[in-house]
Amino acid sequence: MIKHILNLNWLILIYSTNQQYFYKILNMNNYFNTVTLKFVLVFSVFIAITSCNQNKGKTQDMQATNILLEEWTGPYGGVPAFDKMNIKNIKSALEVGMKENLADIDLITKNSKKPTFKNTIVALEKAGKTLNRVQRYYGIWSANVSSPEFRKIQKEMAPVLSEFRSKISQNKELFNRIKTVYENAQKNPLDDDQQRVIQIIYERFAMNGAELDDEKKARYAAINKELSTLYTNFSNNILADEENYVVYLTKDELDGLSEAMIKATAKIASDKGHEGKYAITNTRSYMDPFLTYSNERALREKVWNNYYSRGDNGDEFDNNENIAKILKLRKERVALLGYDNYADWRLQNRMAKTPENAMRLMNAVWPAAIARVKEEVADMQAIANKDNITIKPWDYRFYAEKVRKQKYDLDSDEVKQYLQLDKLTQALFFVAGELFNYNFIPVPEGSVPVFHPDVKVWEVTNKTTGEHIGLWYLDPFARKGKRSGAWATTYRSHSTFDGNKNVLASNNSNFVKPAPGEPVLVSWDDASTFLHEFGHALHFFSSEVKYPTLNGGVRDYTEFQSQVLERWLSTDKVINQFLVHYKTGKAMPKELIEKIKKASTFNQGFATTEYLASALMDMKIHMVDPTNIDVDAFEKETLTEMNMPKELVMRHRTPHFGHVFSGEGYATAYYGYMWADVLTADAAEAFAEAPGGFYDKDLAAKMVKYLFAPRNSMDPAEAYRKFRGRDAKIDALMRDRGFPIPKI
Ligand SMILES: [Zn+2]
Repeated sequence: MIKHILNLNWLILIYSTNQQYFYKILNMNNYFNTVTLKFVLVFSVFIAITSCNQNKGKTQDMQATNILLEEWTGPYGGVPAFDKMNIKNIKSALEVGMKENLADIDLITKNSKKPTFKNTIVALEKAGKTLNRVQRYYGIWSANVSSPEFRKIQKEMAPVLSEFRSKISQNKELFNRIKTVYENAQKNPLDDDQQRVIQIIYERFAMNGAELDDEKKARYAAINKELSTLYTNFSNNILADEENYVVYLTKDELDGLSEAMIKATAKIASDKGHEGKYAITNTRSYMDPFLTYSNERALREKVWNNYYSRGDNGDEFDNNENIAKILKLRKERVALLGYDNYADWRLQNRMAKTPENAMRLMNAVWPAAIARVKEEVADMQAIANKDNITIKPWDYRFYAEKVRKQKYDLDSDEVKQYLQLDKLTQALFFVAGELFNYNFIPVPEGSVPVFHPDVKVWEVTNKTTGEHIGLWYLDPFARKGKRSGAWATTYRSHSTFDGNKNVLASNNSNFVKPAPGEPVLVSWDDASTFLHEFGHALHFFSSEVKYPTLNGGVRDYTEFQSQVLERWLSTDKVINQFLVHYKTGKAMPKELIEKIKKASTFNQGFATTEYLASALMDMKIHMVDPTNIDVDAFEKETLTEMNMPKELVMRHRTPHFGHVFSGEGYATAYYGYMWADVLTADAAEAFAEAPGGFYDKDLAAKMVKYLFAPRNSMDPAEAYRKFRGRDAKIDALMRDRGFPIPKI
């Protein structure tokens, strides 16, 4: 469901403070759906930034011509001027923003008074307001309305932003002040949340080389700069392979495809100047259904090959060299800090703490997953024998669908007729009302600027008091220049330390836009994803933190809040009110729901194995010495050692594993989906067992209080214990997937 991670490198480079970007690439969705894994990329972007009084005069001159620098005005505490964005202004706006930010840092470091929480940490939290705003626009260009023109700018700005970032993270005076505040706070503790802010900031600087000597610092910054370019090249190569390998079908090659797919692919072909043909683009959203339904085996093989060869075609867009360079530079960089390998360095402030803990979980599930693949292949082979076919990777989805129909009598197309986007949106609001006590009201058309006419905006209020909480932007449809998949992001996060800030959050999807008046019908899988992203949005809205830093996410925890929300899709209240047939308006029949539930563990071998193969590879490749690494060979050998079944491949093969190599957001973090899913499954069982079930008011209140509102102001393990009364166990996750429960 995702095709590429489009040029998000800049986000990673400035990985260090306030606002958060959630980019969906993969989420572990493990309940009733069919293609169980969906992909979410979460980038927490922290930007230590500042707007500076000294620069005000100059800034105002710029502002006269550059809307991107201006304060947000209008209703709801000010909103981004998305309707006035002009790409010509972005570079200069970034430059002004960075300059102001550095000037703000200067103000902190030049302060002659002794370092205190207020004059150092609070000042740092306030820093970079202008740049922060500019980067919201930059994020929209990067993810929602990209263009070759923007990509050029992005390529140019990636190393510049990296250098800028290093100037802050390696600022000796700044770090010395932070260290003093940190050490004082160890002796004389501040308030709990202040204590946590200073801890997080101190560790972040230490982790990013603030304590190195000058020579090492210089090398550290140079490595980051080089990496930023490699990350950009990596994603652009994937993008090139996605754009260059479109398969055009003729009318007699459509056998098995749905009407909707035929229409959509005809439109794409005609947009690309191939009138009368049908375009299967080299992206997950087209590869996956084509492989599931097409009766043309040779074409399935071709589409499969194109997709899984992205970044691995031995041409100018091949990523293997890039990966080897990235691995070596990462290793060299963490060695400067005294770490053996990248994984050790990266996991220290995650919930898992060490690569070994993450590996232990994955290794506990892996044997059950590959054992299940054997059973699935046997079931499929029994059908394929009639066609004289031995199951190959491009046959897996096709025969799995046949087994599904045979074994569970479940037709994905029938399910779709009950899943209308409009009704699902109402379902989101209903669930948010029940669990979070929120009300969603459409804002008057035109009152809040949007970057595309498809984007709709709602005001979020407290259902009881009417108190304003924020705005929710929904950008539902696919279009050229928008990256694929689904994701959530904020334009403004909650905080109270500098005045009460409301939340501007957005959800973004790639549903195919229907003809006027036609409903948007989506798969069960996509409906789950829709809830998933909304879970991220609710996590933003419910924030009760005072300081921006505490809005940050813990990478292997922050998918929990989104994954858990998916569970409400199959609750009776949602089914009866919102999962209604698009023609008859009748609720989904009980027997269809039963079928969906019965089929919930179906194809879990495939889903868990393709995911875990990628997650294990991500970790293993960062734990070995990369000095002479041959990436292709490493992948092959590692899969052989793991006894990877030959009938399927990694969900993301290394040469296009954007989570890991188009930035650092998900490097040695792909395991995080399963880590968070242990919590998700365990929490869902708590709801299933509660007196009021999934709408149990007390349990919902506890969930909001401990697992949503604190964001990163509380240690995740401790927060979970407060919610559940104990640590999460792996058992529920294994039950969900229909796997035996291992001992770990
Ligand atoms: Zn997510």
